[in-house]
Amino acid sequence: MLAINKSLKIDSVSNFQIIDITSEIVAILNEINKDKKIQNGMVNVFTKHSTSAIVINENERGLLNDFEKVLKDMVKEKDNYKHDFIDNNAASHIRAFLLGSSETIPIADGRLDLGTWQSVFFIELDGPRTNRTVDLTFIGE
Ligand code: ZN
Repeated sequence: MLAINKSLKIDSVSNFQIIDITSEIVAILNEINKDKKIQNGMVNVFTKHSTSAIVINENERGLLNDFEKVLKDMVKEKDNYKHDFIDNNAASHIRAFLLGSSETIPIADGRLDLGTWQSVFFIELDGPRTNRTVDLTFIGE
């Protein structure tokens, strides 16, 4: 059993942004597996920021717009939030609470074992920001 820690650095360009990081994760896994280190196991994808999230879903433009609309309908931008008195980004935190900070994906036969229509997204909820960090922990054999 082996554990390998890697990280991604992400720059966002708008306040709300959905960034598909699947190909970056696959590239790192392929690099690790040049000598077949992790053929079977899993990778945990974890954002280190409380105003961002990691989710898995389908990368279809209309759906991503629907997701943004529902999230913003569910959590109003301003609502006398107490956190706004100290940091002015309560809505960003609350949206992150709902989405979660990590996902774990199986690795099978050396490949990221996502379903056909699944992508891994970093969700920026309080951008634009530079140098957002996403940790990748690969565990397997
Ligand atoms: Zn805050």
